[in-house]
This record gives sequence, structure tokens and C-alpha cells, in this order.
Amino acid sequence: MTKQRAIIILFDCEDRRASLFGDISVFQQIPSNCECCLFWNKNNQELTNKFDQLRDNNKQVYLYPSNIDNTSKSVIDALAHVINQYLYRHRSIIIVHSQGDIYNEIVQRFNVYCSQNIILHRKIQYSSVQALRDVFAELDNQDKKTIRKQQPKAPTSQSKTKYEQYRLKCSRYFRTTNGLNQHNTAIHEPKPSGYICSCSFKCRTQAEFNRHQRQRREIVDDQGVVISCLNTGEPVEIYVTPDSEALIFLGGKMNACVFECHRQWFTPTALMRHFKGVHANQIDIRIRCCDDDIMYTPDEFRAHIESQHYLTDFE
Ligand SMILES: [Zn+2]
Ligand SMILES: [Zn+2]
Ligand SMILES: [Zn+2]
Ligand SMILES: [Zn+2]
Repeated sequence: MTKQRAIIILFDCEDRRASLFGDISVFQQIPSNCECCLFWNKNNQELTNKFDQLRDNNKQVYLYPSNIDNTSKSVIDALAHVINQYLYRHRSIIIVHSQGDIYNEIVQRFNVYCSQNIILHRKIQYSSVQALRDVFAELDNQDKKTIRKQQPKAPTSQSKTKYEQYRLKCSRYFRTTNGLNQHNTAIHEPKPSGYICSCSFKCRTQAEFNRHQRQRREIVDDQGVVISCLNTGEPVEIYVTPDSEALIFLGGKMNACVFECHRQWFTPTALMRHFKGVHANQIDIRIRCCDDDIMYTPDEFRAHIESQHYLTDFE
């Protein structure tokens, strides 16, 4: 049996954020070797009608109308159930959601249990169908990269995952995920001592990792360096207003204000500060990075950058 590459679980993405599903044709862009689970509250009639249209003509989508309340117990139970169901058939599971630290907990527990980073999660911070396109495009790209990297390997007994080895050496059966996790933590797996971010940042504690993920990243830092998007590794383009030309920064105190105060010269950092201080009413900053079609507002851009820092592995 060949495993499907990935299952994407869209969980807890509705409510005010239902515009995430504004255009359900986005589900035709699921990469060919991926599948997608959709959870939503079945009392939401509008979404129910919409998703019913996916029933017959999209074989990559599984529908889970549910009435999960917001207690973390019922969320964890529902997620644990669906993860268990897909764990054997997929090489990775990506949980896309819009809130909460309970996901950190469940993702870590399952990854420790499998002793691989099978499960990732992605928090969506802005409600546009573009956020879903980003997730799908990213998976598609990753796949192309791994296909290039992969060397054919002869199968050996060594290649059994630790997860399979546990099951061989210890055939205990657990009725609850909790019991199973406690057993695995206590018996099979030492606590992780390091966290690794997708940007290759490493740290010792969950708290440090959370701080790194939410760190306030300036578009132009104190040294005058323009921030790069991880997708391209290139400095982003900054526009003072949506229809202006992209700013071009020169090193040192060589940059003129684009508004009426032509006689003053600034460093890149000071110029950005000047715009925000003196021209707050004239600016409407936009940022463009890995997608030519998107001009992010500063808030959207921050969400885009934050979404590129997620837990990929333990040490
Ligand atoms: Zn065991
Ligand atoms: Zn000025
Ligand atoms: Zn980008
Ligand atoms: Zn990072």
C-alpha cells in the first residue's frame, strides 16, 4: 500500500472566518497526492449547503459536519479520533486552524508517540481564501523538492519507524488517547529537549519557541536591513501607498522622503520611522514578497511571516 503524501485537516476555521471558504473552487487546487478533511459546525446552514456541492465532484475532500463545542476536551477528542483514522495512510498530517494553544499539545503528543514529525499545524491568521491557496501551494512545492532529493533506498528492517517498533515490542491496547500518551511518555520516549522551527531556529523550551514565533519582526530592522520572506529568501518590496513605486533603499543617510520634505536625508530605518511619524496620514503601506499578485497590508504581512515559523521537529 502506498501512503498518500498528506492529509490536510481544516479544523475550527469557520465562524467569523468563513470567508476562508468564500470560493470553494480552491479545493480543486489540492495537490494531487494530498487529501483534505473539512470540519465545520453542521448548524451553519450556509456552509453546509456550500460544502454539499463538494460531495460528488471532489474525491480528495472528506466532509465532517459536526457539533463540537468549544471545550478543549471535545476538540481534542474529535481531532485525536480523526488523526488516528488517517495516521496509517498518510505520511504527514497538517492541521489548519485559527486559534488556540491546545493544538500545540495534541500535535506534540502524537509526534512523540510516533517519534516522527508526522503532524504539523498551521495557524491561519487572516480569513481569505488566499490563506488556503498558500497552504496548498506550499505543499505542492515541498513535494517537488523532496522528489528531487529522494534517492531510492533498499528496504531493510532498520527502516521500520520507531512507532512500528513500539507496536511490535509492546502490544498493549489503550482505550483512551490519554492512557496511550501517558504510557508512551512514561515508558518509551524521553521528553524532547529542543525545539526546531521551520526557519531552522532552535531553542530549549516551548515558551522560547512561542516567543520566537510571535516575535515582532520589523520590516526594516535597526541595521537598515529589509526583512526577507522565507519562501524566496529575498528582501520584500515595500510600497508607501498601494499605487506608488517600490521603495529603493540606499545604504547610509542617503534616502530622501518621497513626500514634500525633499531636503531631508535618512537612513532606511530612520526613513521608515519618518513616514510613520510625520506622514502617518499620507501612507498606506503595502508589502509584496513571494506572490506577485498579493500586496499585503502590514498586518497581513506579519501574519504571513508568522505562518512561516512553525514547529517542525524535536531534538
Ligand atoms: Zn508500550
Ligand atoms: Zn517626509
Ligand atoms: Zn512571502
Ligand atoms: Zn522560525
